[in-house]
Amino acid sequence: MLSPDVVRQGQHVMAVCNACRYCEGYCPVFPAMENRLVFAKHDLAYLANLCHNCGECLYACQFAPPHEFGINVPRTLAEVRLGSYEEYCWPALFSGAFRHHSFAKSCALAAGSSAVLIVLAVMSGAALWPAQPAGDFYAVVPHGVMVALFGLAGVFALLALSIGFVRAVRAFNPGSGVGVRGILDALTLRHLHTSGTDCTSEEEQRSPWRRRFHHLTLYGFALCFASTSVAALYHVVFGWRAPYGYGSLPVVLGTLGGAGLLIGPAGLFALRERRDRALMDPAQDGLDRSFILMLFMTSATGLLLLALRAQPVMPLLLAVHLGFVLGLFLTLPYGKFVHGIYRTVALMVYAKEPPR
Ligand code: SF4
Ligand code: SF4
Repeated sequence: MLSPDVVRQGQHVMAVCNACRYCEGYCPVFPAMENRLVFAKHDLAYLANLCHNCGECLYACQFAPPHEFGINVPRTLAEVRLGSYEEYCWPALFSGAFRHHSFAKSCALAAGSSAVLIVLAVMSGAALWPAQPAGDFYAVVPHGVMVALFGLAGVFALLALSIGFVRAVRAFNPGSGVGVRGILDALTLRHLHTSGTDCTSEEEQRSPWRRRFHHLTLYGFALCFASTSVAALYHVVFGWRAPYGYGSLPVVLGTLGGAGLLIGPAGLFALRERRDRALMDPAQDGLDRSFILMLFMTSATGLLLLALRAQPVMPLLLAVHLGFVLGLFLTLPYGKFVHGIYRTVALMVYAKEPPR
């Protein structure tokens, strides 16, 4: 939750910035800040989700530590952002999860999900071993088991994310409404290169790679989702049963998306580990790394499964892959995925801010 200490620090930083205004051309945070005189909890949450943690304003700031004002906008807003994830989380009971992510816990969740799948598959009479010929996944985990398990997890995740979305719209919106241009801005990452030059990645250094890896991750995820949707359509509407050929639409979409979800998260991980720690909130290390790991492993196991689907190892690979997918689904509303939702809401609200 947004603790009084975090809110107090956010208010201090915004009060100093609002008097100084040196950074007003850097990103949407500063024009939106200038439209406000007071910074209540939800105003700070809005501004925090407008910030993409580039660091530009820290490197420019004459009041940054060790100055006695101690102004560090990216770090302060990162702390507020984490509090906002907890604040708008549904059910609130799970809000503590955002601070307890780790590599080990993600792997344990995936392993547990694989075990559940295997037990359900065995109970429904599937032949797990020896491997089925021709890569028939449904002979290993029956279609009904997959639909029931992933359907339940998917509907729950969608419900939790939708409630978070509505809560953020209500909290961020000062009454001026939301603009669809914000969705376009989120999809194009417009504010990561507003001025035509790329954001700083370190002091005095500019690089397009953070933006590029974000794009690969975002569109990789979207293509994988499209692949699953097309496959579901094939099965339910046309009665065309998997496995599909290497040139078929679901496989082509899944392969392209999988490549994006390998390169994007790997690149984001490499950049993250090299970033200036002064910009970051250490409480979010586990949150970031575990989400990147889940995306990477979901893609890596999926592509491996595709390549080896006619081999004896297929049932084992299928169980591991579906374990990561289910683990990812279950953690979507309580992990870094919510960054995409709240940032989009913040940009939609910003689209209706009075111009400055
Ligand atoms: S970050 Fe520093 S330089 Fe920039 S507006 Fe705030 S106080 Fe001024
Ligand atoms: S870190 Fe970058 S995006 Fe965040 S407030 Fe500063 S300039 Fe804006």
